[in-house]
Amino acid sequence: VQPRHDLVIRHATVVSDGVAATADIAVANGRIANVGTLTGEAAATEVDASDLVAIPGVVEMHAHLREPGLTHKEDVATGTRAAACGGVTTVCDMPNTLPPVATERAFREKAEAIGGSCWVDVGLWAGGTKPDELRGMRRAGAIGVKVYMVSGPGFEPLYTGDIPTLESVLAVAKETHWLVAAHVGDDNLAAAERQGLIAAGRNDARAFLALQHGDASLTGLRRYLDTARRVDVPVHVAHLSIFGVEALETVRRARAAGATVTTEACIPALGSRDLDRLGIYALASAMEDRDVEIWWRAIADGEIDAIATDHAPHTRAEKAPGERDIWAAPPGHPALQTTLPLAYDAVLTGRWSIESLVDAMASRPARLLGLHSKGRIAVGADADIALLDPNGSWTVDQAELESKVGWSPFDGRTLRGRVHSTYLRGRLVARAGEIVAEHPTGYVLARRD
Ligand SMILES: [Zn+2]
Repeated sequence: VQPRHDLVIRHATVVSDGVAATADIAVANGRIANVGTLTGEAAATEVDASDLVAIPGVVEMHAHLREPGLTHKEDVATGTRAAACGGVTTVCDMPNTLPPVATERAFREKAEAIGGSCWVDVGLWAGGTKPDELRGMRRAGAIGVKVYMVSGPGFEPLYTGDIPTLESVLAVAKETHWLVAAHVGDDNLAAAERQGLIAAGRNDARAFLALQHGDASLTGLRRYLDTARRVDVPVHVAHLSIFGVEALETVRRARAAGATVTTEACIPALGSRDLDRLGIYALASAMEDRDVEIWWRAIADGEIDAIATDHAPHTRAEKAPGERDIWAAPPGHPALQTTLPLAYDAVLTGRWSIESLVDAMASRPARLLGLHSKGRIAVGADADIALLDPNGSWTVDQAELESKVGWSPFDGRTLRGRVHSTYLRGRLVARAGEIVAEHPTGYVLARRD
């Protein structure tokens, strides 16, 4: 008898579309062919997943893979290897590479250049500085357009400070049914607030938080939401959680007033003690303990649309000046390999449910990004699957992680549960924290809806 399927995963607890139930998953030609009790169906490869949980591979909206131009920090190969080991099967890469992705030409060159290096699928964001270039990047398959309303370290070339340009970007997004995401802020206010903190002798990690949570961020957020309202287009806010609880309140008020706004949060896994111990290495996702609880509630309630890693690696040498002076080093830390493990640990310790995890880390991001074959374990979907072991555990060892920078703010943490294995279109890519595939088979995804 010829095997009917390439792969059958048997007796897993399958979580998709808000339901967790025991089932078998059959895979043929990279897609899910059947889900259910599949007693008669043979396959070339059979996996007994009796004690495992099968979730759709994580769809990561917000990562910095640093290629081209910044490959001393990370590259597409190392970043997507980290993703695969961390149960992430789609990574959407931000446009602040060198050159920045602000033209159709730069977009096409980047997509072409990284084609053979992707260990998982990769989507590319367009940068929203040149309205005339946007339609070209949309046609070329960019998954969304990112606007930087501040000119912080590493994204100066993508700065869109003026409202008319922002309006033009939003108008194109509306016309082409494209996702627009903003790093909100106000550059002039931020510079003044920062000068004030420096003048007061503040150069510690909490001063950085004060700036992130301050008037510049909140003013930028309100301006973004107001502009979206005027243009009448849904908008997305990148890493809302770094802007503090008042930013969450601002979004609540805007929603109550009728705004269509989606948000992402970094996983609230770095609290006050981490901030004190790690300083610059815990930024920008670290928050005060009292805020950790508030963000977890918003995430568990589904008020936050997506968990994003904001994987933003910098080398230790680049970070080191920040140990004495917080303003002397860029914020950002690697997170692609650790976010699902942290999120799953939070499921096993009762902070939120596995159904909500799948919703915030796979299904909703896939929908927002127009990636309709992702984010579900259902017939016809890409067979991107992470198997989780609720009985396992994992101690993060930064020396073992795939990211090029070799450090992690989560080093030494022991987590309940672990990512058992990761399948991309039915092919086993990673198992027990190691890449087992022989070569990269990820695609550069194009948004076609
Ligand atoms: Zn970012």
